[in-house]
Amino acid sequence: MANKYLWLLDNGHGGVIDGLYQTPGKRSPLWSDGSILYEGEFNRAIINRLVEMLTIDHINYVNITPEYEDISLNERVRRANTYYQQSDEQLNCVFLSVHSNAGGGKGYEIYTSKGETLSDKAATIFFDKFKGEFPEANMRVDTLDNDPDKEADFYVLKNTKMPAVLTENFFMDNEHECKTYLMTHEGRDRIAKAHYNAIKAIEEFGL
Ligand SMILES: [Zn+2]
Repeated sequence: MANKYLWLLDNGHGGVIDGLYQTPGKRSPLWSDGSILYEGEFNRAIINRLVEMLTIDHINYVNITPEYEDISLNERVRRANTYYQQSDEQLNCVFLSVHSNAGGGKGYEIYTSKGETLSDKAATIFFDKFKGEFPEANMRVDTLDNDPDKEADFYVLKNTKMPAVLTENFFMDNEHECKTYLMTHEGRDRIAKAHYNAIKAIEEFGL
């Protein structure tokens, strides 16, 4: 398979260092069984699965935020745009940021920057593969609202220069979704698989 893209993989938020989650907020409620999900840990679990799958398939990628510290949005954009400046027509960059949603709701969402045709094409492919992997789940479309948390996440979409997609993988404050999809090996494998299937389709057919 020809390698046509360089996937710029972005773990949303910080990770856990010595048991200490690096990002305020960005977590599930403390569930009655004592469990809690930290979004940044989940985001890393998905990106790490993708790293393994893409490596095996010889698909080009960079984990642009390998640290466990919470890297600023500005720095994430700077790193992505640096790779973009080095890319050429043989190797086009696509930015992929992985998140989980909050604020009351259910299902998954795929966001793109406004007015970027290639991002929209990529997002359509991601939607398609998510639908294939999660026929039972709620696909949320046209849900743009004024949620400030999302605005912060969207900074990376607005300011990266390449096609860019941000996935909001289910709602961590929805107990069913959190415990079914986000806090289980099986759920995480399926979420990674949906991303992987989209990447494979884009590698095969292009944007
Ligand atoms: Zn997030």
